[in-house]
This record gives sequence, structure tokens and C-alpha cells, in this order.
Amino acid sequence: MSAAVCASPAVRAALVRPLARYSSKLTASLWAAWPAAVALRAERGSVAVQARNRLQDLLADLRAEDNEAEDVHNVPVATKLEWQAPLAVLQYPDPRLRAVNARIGVFDDSLRQLAEEMFEVMYQDDGVGLAAPQVGVNVRLMVFNEAGEKGKGEEIVLVNPQIINLGKSRNLFEEGCLSFPGIYADVERPSKVKIKAQDLNGRKFTISLSGFPARIFQHEYDHLDGRLFHDRMAPEVLATVRQQLVDMEEAYLKANPEAQVQRVA
Ligand SMILES: [Zn+2]
Repeated sequence: MSAAVCASPAVRAALVRPLARYSSKLTASLWAAWPAAVALRAERGSVAVQARNRLQDLLADLRAEDNEAEDVHNVPVATKLEWQAPLAVLQYPDPRLRAVNARIGVFDDSLRQLAEEMFEVMYQDDGVGLAAPQVGVNVRLMVFNEAGEKGKGEEIVLVNPQIINLGKSRNLFEEGCLSFPGIYADVERPSKVKIKAQDLNGRKFTISLSGFPARIFQHEYDHLDGRLFHDRMAPEVLATVRQQLVDMEEAYLKANPEAQVQRVA
């Protein structure tokens, strides 16, 4: 039983009136507070989403650490970098484009010099990205600059890069490759990528890329795994450039009859 029912009419009135006033005030203030409450709930939701995303990132990092540990055992580690200057871009189907690329285990002047020379040859050939195997140095190094011009844009050097995760959304984009002069075709790839890599001093860092830089990175990263852009073309797209690929194979084999090359399917 409530106090209001037991009390005399006078007491009841004295109790109920303020209660009613209080109740309408409460209702009004609840309504006034509603948008803030909704915003707070949304904010709590987004905090929860951020926390979940952070946790997923941490788990992905841990998995990448595991992969890195495996990589160390699966690919050789280069402790000395050797090349012949000036660098020249190898053309398809040079077997060095399909060879295993060693992890880089040396962070000295030779690595800085190699990266610098790779930028030079990349700008000379009007490229926006270049992977070390493309200049005949089979190590896990890439350079890129989406501006494609010295002194413009940002020069990015990635040593021993690893993909931590790839975005779910994908897009089609027409790609070219310095090892395939004159060949351009659409390739579908994820539009975002999170990467872990080392800089020229061996310091580890993580970056997230989207748009054109994400596209360039994935193309160059494929080179480090001996994968070339036509491997990723849809069959109907590959059909449009197959003859050009065959022509390049014929020309290469004519100049290098002993070479063991992987030809287009
Ligand atoms: Zn390429």
C-alpha cells in the first residue's frame, strides 16, 4: 500500500500536489535530457566499437608477429646487398621477377644507397612505385611516391613490409608496371591496407593506406612475393593483354634462349 492511499484527504493532497509537480518537472527534464542521453548512448556505442577495433588490430598485430617469425624461417635473410650501378628495370618475363626475395637483415649505407638509386630509376621511367626484384636485387624492399616526381609528394621506403590486414571493400583500377612497358589493364584489389614494415634504420612502424597509395603498395608487395599484376587480372581482362605478354615472352626468349621463364597461361 502506498502512503498516499493510507493518508487523510488533506495529507494526501499535501503529498500528491508536490509529487505531481515534481513528476511533471521530472518528465520535462527527462524529455530535455533525451537528446543528450541518445548522444551519450551513441558515444558509448562508438567507444565500444573503437575498443573492439583496437582489440582486433592488436590481435592482427600478434598474428603478423607470428607470420614474421615464420617468415624468418621460410625466406633467407640478406646480410649483404649487392647490385650493379646504374640500376635498370628488368622486363617481363625475366626469371628474377619470379625469384624468392630475401628479408633484409642489414641496415647500413648500402641499403640507403639502394633505395636512393631505386627512386632515381623509378622517376626516370615515370613510375610511382618500384620493388627491388624489378632491378634484379631479390630482397624485400620497395619504394614509392604517388606524385611520381622528384621533389613532389612523399617518398616512402618500406623494408620487409608485411600486410596486417586488408579492407573488405575492393575496387577496380587500371594498373601499369615498369616491367611491362605499354601494358595497362584493370586489376581488382582491396581499397585499404594496414602495413607493418621497417624503415632504412631498421625501426619498425605501422601505417594504414587507402586510395592510390594502397593500390601502389599492393602492386609492389606482390612483386616481393614474385607475383605479377597479370596474375591478378580477371580472365576477360587478361585476354585483352595476352598477346602483348606473349610477344614480350618471345622477344625475351629470343635474346635469352637458355632462360627458364614462367609463361602466361
Ligand atoms: Zn610492377
